[in-house]
Amino acid sequence: MAGTGALAAASATVPQVAHAIGRQNVLIIGAGLAGLRAGQILKAKGHLVTILEGRNRFGGRCYTSHKWADLPMDLGATWIHESGKGNPMTPIAKALGLRLAADSYDKTTAYEAGDGPLTGADLTYFNTMGDKVRKAMESSGDSDTEMSLMQYTKNKIGYASMDAYDKRLADYWMREIGGYEYAGDTAELSAWYWDNAKEFPGPEVYLPDTGYEPIVNALAQGQDIRLNQIVSKIAYTGTGVTVTTNVGTYTADRVIVTVPLGVLKKNKISFSPALPSAYSTAISKLGMGTGVLNKVVLRFPSVFWPAKDWLAYVPTSAELGKFHDWFNPSPALNGKAVLIGFTAGFYGQQQEALADWQIVDKAMDVLRDMFGDGIPNPTDYQVTRWDQDPFSYGSYSFFATGSTPAMVKTLTTAVSNRVFFAGEHTHPDYPQTTHGAYLSGERAANQILALKA
Ligand SMILES: Cc1cc2nc3c(=O)[nH]c(=O)nc-3n(C[C@H](O)[C@H](O)[C@H](O)COP(=O)(O)OP(=O)(O)OC[C@H]3O[C@@H](n4cnc5c(N)ncnc54)[C@H](O)[C@@H]3O)c2cc1C
Repeated sequence: MAGTGALAAASATVPQVAHAIGRQNVLIIGAGLAGLRAGQILKAKGHLVTILEGRNRFGGRCYTSHKWADLPMDLGATWIHESGKGNPMTPIAKALGLRLAADSYDKTTAYEAGDGPLTGADLTYFNTMGDKVRKAMESSGDSDTEMSLMQYTKNKIGYASMDAYDKRLADYWMREIGGYEYAGDTAELSAWYWDNAKEFPGPEVYLPDTGYEPIVNALAQGQDIRLNQIVSKIAYTGTGVTVTTNVGTYTADRVIVTVPLGVLKKNKISFSPALPSAYSTAISKLGMGTGVLNKVVLRFPSVFWPAKDWLAYVPTSAELGKFHDWFNPSPALNGKAVLIGFTAGFYGQQQEALADWQIVDKAMDVLRDMFGDGIPNPTDYQVTRWDQDPFSYGSYSFFATGSTPAMVKTLTTAVSNRVFFAGEHTHPDYPQTTHGAYLSGERAANQILALKA
């Protein structure tokens, strides 16, 4: 069976730790990749694991929609970023026999609002500004004082004395390199730590036939996952934990909390006793939910756009941040005509207040600006609102101004050896990603396995 092969492949990557502790009863809060991976390891080692999940499905921010029966669509994570050596998602995908497709930002056509595709000297000027902004951003760790990435970059490139056109291009690039990659608005990202993460080698790949769903299913296989259990309280003592949900109360030896940082920031789960101040400080200072990354997936009767992986859009200064990026998966979808538009940062967050039809209208305005009024209307759409999602409150974590890597480190340590944390926001090297979430679950499980008593 395919799933079993994948589990074996995944298990092979588990670091060997001494199994010093007796059989434990462990509760895991959240059935995303972090929770599923932690449960998989602990269960394989003979512990009693119960996963409490607030939604009516597992997978969390790996969510493959089946609104279109012939076209599974990832509305959360799409890519296995840096899919080469060391990325644990790739061997699982391969063991499951999933088709991987690669794409590249090198295959991009850029369009300017009201002015069509950028070509020749205009394109060179656009890219030169991109290089200038990127170089400035990459030097931001040298800043003498902590400030937002946007403030630092503006100072560095002399934004204040630029003319209106250069400002527009600089505004585009600051948001493109910041918010569109990190979900938090560039005005919120920390100049010192915004790109603190490490990377594996290898290309960006996605799963055009299936989305992430088979990976989620393989990890969930055989686990005791209780859906529709919204956790509101975690009480811990020197001898155990008690977890309260909307349905009832659970007791166990230990708990692993994998809910997104956004949920912790909103204090949706209370801790008794309160978490030590280093933890509550980390939760409040690290960023999630001030800025967001959202998708608008549009399905068309036929392809009317060029055979590029990405289409970039430079909005007017009046609409900073509007639909910068469009991903074109159609070449890998056997002719199915789909474009995925992204909104990010504060702009993405503001859009969530609109009705679906208004968001689709705005997306179509952009496409008509790029390709003319003659393009067809979409036959259907799917829209995400990750910031309003009460089981996420944002897309993924980021280093907000005032937060530090030491704060993430704090979240990798257990409270009283009873309350453990996992989730993408707790991985010091690979936050914001599926592999970071997965590896964080591995870490938390191994921390429990390594306990002496
Ligand atoms: C739009 C978007 C695009 C992305 N693109 C990519 C990408 O291309 N590649 C990539 O690597 N990563 C991407 N990511 C990030 C990736 O999806 C996450 O890093 C990863 O899935 C997080 O896994 P997790 O287990 O830490 O958290 P989650 O998957 O969020 O799991 C946490 C679980 O906790 C549950 N929960 C929350 N509150 C409660 C509660 N009170 N009680 C019980 N359960 C609760 C949630 O329902 C959820 O199932 C993207 C994310 C988004 C939103």
